[in-house]
Amino acid sequence: MLGFYHRRPTRLSLNANDNPRKEYNQPMNTAYFRFHGRLNDFLPKEQRGQLIAIHFRERQSVKHLAESLGVPHPEVGLVQVNGQEETLGRITENEDRVEIHPIENGCPIEPRFLLDCHLGRLAAHLRMLGFDCLYQNDFGDSIMTEIVIREQRILLTRDRRLLMRKIIQHGYCLRSLDPLEQLTEVVRRFELSARIQPFHRCLRCNRPLAPIEKKIIADQLEPLTKLYFDEFHICPACKQIYWKGSHYDKMVKVVEQIR
Ligand SMILES: [Zn+2]
Repeated sequence: MLGFYHRRPTRLSLNANDNPRKEYNQPMNTAYFRFHGRLNDFLPKEQRGQLIAIHFRERQSVKHLAESLGVPHPEVGLVQVNGQEETLGRITENEDRVEIHPIENGCPIEPRFLLDCHLGRLAAHLRMLGFDCLYQNDFGDSIMTEIVIREQRILLTRDRRLLMRKIIQHGYCLRSLDPLEQLTEVVRRFELSARIQPFHRCLRCNRPLAPIEKKIIADQLEPLTKLYFDEFHICPACKQIYWKGSHYDKMVKVVEQIR
């Protein structure tokens, strides 16, 4: 059939206790998957928008087969199998036609994030817009997973394997490598524009800032800062002082473009 892309038969989730012979006694099944919209970002060019034939033995959920093609489950929204709405947990049957759509933009929980260790600059940008972002460059995968679940945070990462962990509910895989483009992606994906509150959070340690009178900190300011700015905030934890300087103007421009 034209337009079908065939993969090699896959042996998914065969663990060490399974008997390989048992697998060969089972008939080979074929299902056809098609991904829509931005989910195609995860696929090689020749598979985008195409029906992809996938061969499998044993019981395989739609989630498992979709992830074997590279699409992490937190990115998935509507799933249709043979024209009927289904969940990712549905067991795939022979000849199933599976259509998978991206999750809709929006934020189903409070927009609080955990960022993986490569996203320090994005964390600072998001904090500048007032968003609660946990980030530490020495967090390992299992610690991150634990925090995400315990604190009900949204995982931001470029590591698809991490997003594919079963326990992860809310997450997003950043497409760009550029921190400002990543910021745009996050603001759009989670519809954050209306929630932006600049000068609410410390860029260094994520703590909410408090306003502080200029006269209290005047001796710590550079002469030009003292001359041109009157509004200041301070981090109660690390004592960093913030004012609306040139980095702020740059950020405002970025946010205006996103809106
Ligand atoms: Zn701080």
